[in-house]
Amino acid sequence: MIVIMKQDATSAQIANVTARIEQLGCQVHLSEGEERTIIGIIGNGRPLDREQIERMVGVERTVPILRPFKLASRDFHPQDTVVPINSVQIGSKQLIVMAGPCAVESQDQLLEAAHAVKEAGAHVLRGGAFKPRTSPYSFQGLGEEGLRLLSKAREETGLPVVTEVMDPQQVPLVTTHSDILQVGARNMQNYALLHAVGRAQRPVLLKRGMMSTVEELLMAAEYILSHGNDRVILCERGIRTFESYTRNTLDISAVPLLKQLSHLPVIVDPSHGTGKWELVEPMSRAAVAAGADGLLIEVHPYPEKALSDGAQSLKPDRFAALMRDLRPVAEAVGRTL
Ligand code: PEP
Ligand code: MN
Repeated sequence: MIVIMKQDATSAQIANVTARIEQLGCQVHLSEGEERTIIGIIGNGRPLDREQIERMVGVERTVPILRPFKLASRDFHPQDTVVPINSVQIGSKQLIVMAGPCAVESQDQLLEAAHAVKEAGAHVLRGGAFKPRTSPYSFQGLGEEGLRLLSKAREETGLPVVTEVMDPQQVPLVTTHSDILQVGARNMQNYALLHAVGRAQRPVLLKRGMMSTVEELLMAAEYILSHGNDRVILCERGIRTFESYTRNTLDISAVPLLKQLSHLPVIVDPSHGTGKWELVEPMSRAAVAAGADGLLIEVHPYPEKALSDGAQSLKPDRFAALMRDLRPVAEAVGRTL
């Protein structure tokens, strides 16, 4: 249930309602909008007496939230959430592009990629240090050394960094090197990890599981939000279907749907979404046209030599061309790049 306070409700009245809800054994999450405050109530399983709350001074009305996700829902937080990362704002008018190699492979490879994506106008550098690979015999990432290289690339380019964290115990270490914690598709329902990144109070890039519904994605976000960490960025990265010409089927409809259901920013990963570099450009345009707040794109200086995901990685010059080609699409939907 949410409590919508009157526009002129005083802070004392808000505090009073909050205290009463806590007294009833429920958790309170405040959403302070420009016009009014909305109080989200996470119940204790027992039904609440709505009338009792509605009689309190300063309360306009209460609304039951019937969807299973609450803090992630637009009912609770009508205005868009904007996640600031250094000088960029994810979820604002400006589109945010995160780009870089699938995996950090060496200092030369990472720095070359980092400078190239920065030059082309990317806002955030991506690169995996801990890689979730299907086979235990595939390259698993450079681990802590990869994190150190990301820190070095950040120092050299000034770009903030996003990298994946796979284990709750790795969260403190990854937090010291990364501006955004990435939870990968394979870990979207790793609840211990979701709790850990929620507690980390660091922006989280939450990727949709390859066999997860939109509602399951929002429920995963709810775990993070329930710790008071409201800096969650959702990422559509394709789902498994019967189609085999592409690695995944990129669900573009998830973008406007997520924007309808939730206030959280949504970005799209056309690299994992298609598995083919030739499809990255058209699907990036489609994502921007559909209302995505940004893109996550794999770029490698030498895709043919990549230790992972070479087939879906753009060469730097193609990435630069993509950034140029996206501009008119962004403008057509009222965004900037
Ligand atoms: C990645 O972005 O490096 C990655 C492994 O993606 P996903 O979790 O979507 O497969
Ligand atoms: Mn990859």
